[in-house]
Amino acid sequence: MDSNQLQDLVARYPIVKDLIELKETIWFNSTFTTLEQGLPYVGLTQDDIDDARDRLQRFAPYLMAVFPETSVSHGIIESELSAIPYMQKSLETHFHQIITGKLWLKKDSHLPISGSIKARGGIYEVLFRAEQLALQANLLTIQDDYAKLNSPEFRKFFGQYSIAVGSTGNLGLSIGIMSAKLGFDVTVHMSADARQWKKDKLRAHGVTVIEYEQDYGIAVQEGRKAALKNPNCFFIDDENSKTLFLGYAVAGERLKKQLDQHHIIVDQAHPLFVYLPCGVGGGPGGVAFGLKMAFGDHVHCIFAEPTHSPCMLLGVATGLHDEISVQDIGIDNITAADGLAVGRASGFVGRAMQRLLDGFYTLDDQTMYSLLGMLNQSENLKLEPSALAGMLGPILVSKHQSYADLHQFTEQQLQHANHIVWGTGGGMVPIEEMQNYLTKA
Ligand SMILES: *Cc1c(COP(=O)(O)O)cnc(C)c1O
Repeated sequence: MDSNQLQDLVARYPIVKDLIELKETIWFNSTFTTLEQGLPYVGLTQDDIDDARDRLQRFAPYLMAVFPETSVSHGIIESELSAIPYMQKSLETHFHQIITGKLWLKKDSHLPISGSIKARGGIYEVLFRAEQLALQANLLTIQDDYAKLNSPEFRKFFGQYSIAVGSTGNLGLSIGIMSAKLGFDVTVHMSADARQWKKDKLRAHGVTVIEYEQDYGIAVQEGRKAALKNPNCFFIDDENSKTLFLGYAVAGERLKKQLDQHHIIVDQAHPLFVYLPCGVGGGPGGVAFGLKMAFGDHVHCIFAEPTHSPCMLLGVATGLHDEISVQDIGIDNITAADGLAVGRASGFVGRAMQRLLDGFYTLDDQTMYSLLGMLNQSENLKLEPSALAGMLGPILVSKHQSYADLHQFTEQQLQHANHIVWGTGGGMVPIEEMQNYLTKA
């Protein structure tokens, strides 16, 4: 993009200027629609979510057998929902802003197998692929007990096939560990910002790790190229995969059950706000889709991105989606927030979900570190920086009258609101690394 084009863009979309200046920015979506109006653009339905849910159920006996840590949840990979009242107080004090309603944390940070939200979509897509291969080879029927996949014969069978993925770290962990466990020959193409401990962990699981000196976009591109050369290689496409997206979407109805258990009502009088850290968009997009299908128009989803990687905000606000990158507007895409260092958003997710999202905001790495320290002090919970991106959301929503006006929220509704911050990762961060994070807080 040359400087004239950039000037034009800024003139048409003033928000782009704030992004270029790396300001913490908020952009509420004034063209949101109802679920009914927005759903056709997603191109997926409740049947697709049900199909994903059933598939995960079929794999539960297998997962329980190979990952004993999933046996408490009977082979279902799901996280806890916890009220965080002390954090709510800390936030209110720190930002001089009351949060109307009640604050919760969805602890995907503590999901089994890979300790991040990627244990939803990433693992699901590997299972999808494995099932497809085994069914086609007549080695499996969907009535079988899938625990039978835990055998030398099946590992040998899957060993004929490879899986490849490009990742900033957490997706690679999920796909690498799951694929290697099934017996696939798996390669993870890692971007420069990926942590050493994640590469080490993968190699210890027998995963091939290829490192790049460039960012996520390049790692994906190179991974895709390498995979094309091998007809038995399946490339997991984080930028466009509907399978991955559906793996995330199952979270919606599961959260609904959890809220029921807590006797939390979600309806017109009791809105639910959910804050999701966004990288390429598949994770937060898929979860938001599932939430919309579970709660309809009473759930309000807001995405959070680092000031140095606001790819989804940029793509949706300008309508250019994956036709623009943060580098095009002179931003470096360098952030401490693993998983969020993405310069170009998924074109599929932005186009599918833009009408159903309430807004987007950006925050500084330092703000994430501060929130990380605050959560540790107030609740004794340790998350990675990216997982704190959503934590600023409840403050912003409570503060901005313009948002309440846009949706015509009454004071009463806001008093009865629930705010869920999606804590997307951090459960497996080594102690020394966590100590570093806490020092920066
Ligand atoms: C990947 C990731 C996200 C965002 O998911 P996308 O699908 O890339 O948008 C958020 N938080 C963490 C910790 C992640 O690893």
